[in-house]
Amino acid sequence: MPAGVFYFSLLEQMIKADKKITDEQIEELICKNFKMKGLILADVKIIKMNDNKLESGSSKLVPAAITTAGNVNEKWTNGVNKEEFKILQDYIDVTIKQIAKEILNGRIDIKPFYKNGKTPCQYCQYKTICGFNTKQKGNTYQYIEKKSKEEILSKIKDLGTAP
Ligand code: SF4
Repeated sequence: MPAGVFYFSLLEQMIKADKKITDEQIEELICKNFKMKGLILADVKIIKMNDNKLESGSSKLVPAAITTAGNVNEKWTNGVNKEEFKILQDYIDVTIKQIAKEILNGRIDIKPFYKNGKTPCQYCQYKTICGFNTKQKGNTYQYIEKKSKEEILSKIKDLGTAP
């Protein structure tokens, strides 16, 4: 059972400030930028194992928070329970196999995602090679709607993707 799936940028951190700041403040800002994003197993024991200095409040390391009463702070935790984690794992497993099958069957159309006004094309180094252009016929984005965690999990359950 995974404790979470996290990621953070390995790029060198550049701190900008409009006034002189101390080395400690710089370090604090750098650490803040390294706070991991992702999904954690919403379990106090697991959260504390990921951030062994955390007693209550928001973690500076992982996307989780603990209430003063010692419970998972649902509002400030990007987490799922064990059962939900398993549902996601099964779904990913099925989806990867499906994508691989489609590629092997020749489906290689250019379809970058578009979510909240963002696309991977904004940062892509292959822009000039791939030629994706929405003005050209057949070039469209894969639009991803913003959905709540509950909506996503319920949709996956409805799909019944268990392998
Ligand atoms: S520029 Fe082309 S290759 Fe790069 S992300 Fe967009 S569609 Fe994909």
